[in-house]
Amino acid sequence: MIEGIIVKGIGGFYYVQTQDALVECKAKGLMRIGKLTPIPGDRVKIELLEAEDGKGVIVEILERTSLLTRPAVANINQLFIVISCTQPEPDLLLADKLIISAMKHKIKPILVVNKIDLKAIQLDAIAAQYLNTGFETVFTSALTGEGIEEIFSLMKGKISGFAGQSGVGKSSLLNALLQRIAMLTGTLGDKSFRGKHTTRHAELFALEQDGFVLDTPGFSNYELEDIMYDELWTYYPEMLNDAEACRFAGCIHVAEPNCRIKALVDEGAIDQLRYQRYLFMVMTLKEVHKNRWR
Ligand code: GDP
Ligand code: ZN
Repeated sequence: MIEGIIVKGIGGFYYVQTQDALVECKAKGLMRIGKLTPIPGDRVKIELLEAEDGKGVIVEILERTSLLTRPAVANINQLFIVISCTQPEPDLLLADKLIISAMKHKIKPILVVNKIDLKAIQLDAIAAQYLNTGFETVFTSALTGEGIEEIFSLMKGKISGFAGQSGVGKSSLLNALLQRIAMLTGTLGDKSFRGKHTTRHAELFALEQDGFVLDTPGFSNYELEDIMYDELWTYYPEMLNDAEACRFAGCIHVAEPNCRIKALVDEGAIDQLRYQRYLFMVMTLKEVHKNRWR
């Protein structure tokens, strides 16, 4: 038995990338693999068919470390959350939601501020809002290639995906990466990443030096689900750092008296704008949950 990663599934066939080859597999006896439907990103054990070269059967799906839906993909380690410094105006509320969602799914968020060639005055203002979060931030231009190398090296050994508002340059960044890979391997890229309108099935692209990237940018429109308003703050590293300094257990750092987090916002140690978006999300989630249980 050998192990591999499903890179795509089409019409009952699953393409499994192993150390040595891409193997076309069927998932016979679904009961045996625990009623799970195999999806891209799944680490699987396969048996090669002796009668047919290059073909196999999936016999086991290994435990998933993460699971995203729409598109369905398993085991993503990190999500590059792309923000454009201008054109379109950055939707940082969406960015914050994507960060929270990634963390909730045990996926590492990495911020990508794209279109830096446009020399937008917003650039520093955006960066400042995330200064105290500890999130890795990469500044890129899909146009000039700046920052592409950095993204490429961050992808080594990981399964990565791209997310973000429409028009920020996710497809362009993916294509710039692809060109970079084609250059390295000396092969002409026979593949180009699809645009946002054809996001039906996710497909993983195997990187030459270990690692995979999801070829379809997704999650351009995202609403927080299944997060309770009073757990939201735990997805803010800049709040977590100082939470024990808060006087009251169970403080969600909204309107409680003597809240240490609110003091830090007033002092400027925690970004005002990001905090305001936090308050907005708490309010929205409170409303959502109130209506849900009514
Ligand atoms: P997506 O919707 O996030 O996939 O965005 P696209 O990759 O389709 O890019 C949207 C538009 O922004 C296209 O016209 C791109 O040519 C342009 N674009 C993408 N990245 C950059 C960049 O780094 N600099 C500039 N100036 N334009 C970019
Ligand atoms: Zn507090």
